[in-house]
Amino acid sequence: MREKSDIFKQRTADTLLKLEGKIALITGGASGIGAATARLFSQHGARVIIADIQDDLGQSTASSIPNATYTHCDVTNEEDICQAIDLATTLGDGKLDIMFNNAGIVDPPKPSILEYSLSDFDRVLGVNLVGAFLGTKHAARVMIPAQSGCILYTASVSSVIGGAATHAYACTKHALAGLTKNAAVELGEFGIRVNCISPYCLATPLAKKFVGLEQDKELEEVMGAHANLKGVVLKSEDVARAALYLASEDGRYVSGHNLVVDGGFTIVNTSFQ
Ligand code: NAD
Repeated sequence: MREKSDIFKQRTADTLLKLEGKIALITGGASGIGAATARLFSQHGARVIIADIQDDLGQSTASSIPNATYTHCDVTNEEDICQAIDLATTLGDGKLDIMFNNAGIVDPPKPSILEYSLSDFDRVLGVNLVGAFLGTKHAARVMIPAQSGCILYTASVSSVIGGAATHAYACTKHALAGLTKNAAVELGEFGIRVNCISPYCLATPLAKKFVGLEQDKELEEVMGAHANLKGVVLKSEDVARAALYLASEDGRYVSGHNLVVDGGFTIVNTSFQ
């Protein structure tokens, strides 16, 4: 017979594993927010597929995470998306529980719309928005028959305010909030929840490239000076925790929501100056 303390330990472990038996596909999972989410989801018992275009980095991120597999996937390429979803469903015995459309790019800063080329604009739309649309469409294809699933996007504070990053970036992030609502309405009938997360700026390769800084600390100091919540530095792991909440039973009745993780920045700022 098991000791009472063993049963307690078992129960505690069960409660702590929030994604046990789940299969999650994370685009842009080689680095930054995607990699932190892959790690946290794995710690919570999920099997994770990391889909990215940085093959060496993606392989090494996946090999450092238990139950993680890397696959090459350019989110702008519909065939790549389908193959990544096929891989996930093969590894997941026919199911895909969580689709995290997280891959994103930002243009080099361009102060004026007059300097903005159509090709730059299209490139950002292609990854940030079309990629998320393709991920949603093909995830829904396998989630609808299962009558369950969770679709997530990484938007940004640029989904609710202007002036951040570039014109195309802000357009795509506003659009993700719209896609979230629309897809949540259509897919709710099938038990599928759709949400997005909108973080304030945090030190990842994407953000450092945009502001032209190389060190995490330098970027964190700059962003800290503009932040509303003082003394707390936003990390990829904080965004991963928001994703865990939305993907797990904790968020079982949350759908169509834009979860802003910005320490109150967008309450006091209607644009980045
Ligand atoms: P990151 O540079 O660390 O990660 C982005 C990942 O996306 C990279 O691994 C990159 O290779 C991948 N990627 C780019 N193009 C791709 C494509 N065509 N197909 C597949 N993968 C592709 O940066 P991050 O900050 O972790 O970015 C993740 C998401 O977070 C992005 O959508 C970004 O817009 C959003 N975001 C970032 C910040 C920030 O300050 N870092 C703030 C708000 C929102």
